[in-house]
Amino acid sequence: MTESATMAGCPLCGGRKERVLFEEASAVLRMRIVRCGDCGFMFQNPRVSELMLEDAHAEFTEYERYPALQEAKQRLYEPRIRRILTSFFPQRPGRFLDFGAGYGAMLQAFRQARPDWELVGVEPSARAGLALSGQGFEIRTSIEELATCGGAPFDWINLDNVLEHLDDPVGSLSALRNLLARDGIVFIEVPNESFFRLRYRLNDWVRGSSKAPTFPGHLNLFTPRTLRRAAGLAGFRVTELRGVSAAEPGRMEALFGIEPAGRLLAILRLLRWTRLDHLIGMTYFTQCILQPLEVPSPVPGPGRKSSSGGPGRQG
Ligand SMILES: [Zn+2]
Repeated sequence: MTESATMAGCPLCGGRKERVLFEEASAVLRMRIVRCGDCGFMFQNPRVSELMLEDAHAEFTEYERYPALQEAKQRLYEPRIRRILTSFFPQRPGRFLDFGAGYGAMLQAFRQARPDWELVGVEPSARAGLALSGQGFEIRTSIEELATCGGAPFDWINLDNVLEHLDDPVGSLSALRNLLARDGIVFIEVPNESFFRLRYRLNDWVRGSSKAPTFPGHLNLFTPRTLRRAAGLAGFRVTELRGVSAAEPGRMEALFGIEPAGRLLAILRLLRWTRLDHLIGMTYFTQCILQPLEVPSPVPGPGRKSSSGGPGRQG
């Protein structure tokens, strides 16, 4: 076990003990991933430089604009929207916030499913924001801007592959809780990093070369356990938590814009049939639904900034 001095405390507990899980400082890759010695949370420390992140985001948002990908995302989101609305908001209209709205696939799918809901997006990318405004959506660039605009509390706040990008995930969730109705929900999907070490070793073995074990923008590496902990610290209870397989119908199309074929299709079919990834807790994503605790818990904790910042890009 390697103990090393930290530049910043753990984003969850403020702890300053850490163990290095991955470290590379080459010309092509600069990344250091640690696990908190107190709570077990995995995160990048130091964080990737702003410049590198902006490059990665620019590349990704370019890719995000492909219409085929947007359509595949909408097809993936439609059944999710229907399921959650039926469970939590049957019949009645409400207010929906997509935090990290990207190019609007979720907002579009929502508008089609329930035109009676009021829809708002938070998107820090100027280019994506412009595209969203062009589609007629109300768009803000940060939680702070959203908070100053007033308006009724939100009934559903959506963070789809966003929380792992945020500098202060607990602070951001906490700030969002203040914008949520008492009977409102927060839906979160994050990559499941429970098998982080195994995955990067498998990747290396398959490729025959070393590659970054996660996206540069993935500052926080959540497991179901640490996701629960972050939710609790931000004043939420976890109403539902489940693993979602990479073999979920439409998932590959929505992630990569590809129609699975050949060896990949065979693996996905095997997973769908056996549910092996569910059985061993190695599903690719974790989804959860949070509801506010009756009594808000005090945040921020030790060493945590009060600023919540804007969302990262989906990735
Ligand atoms: Zn910690």
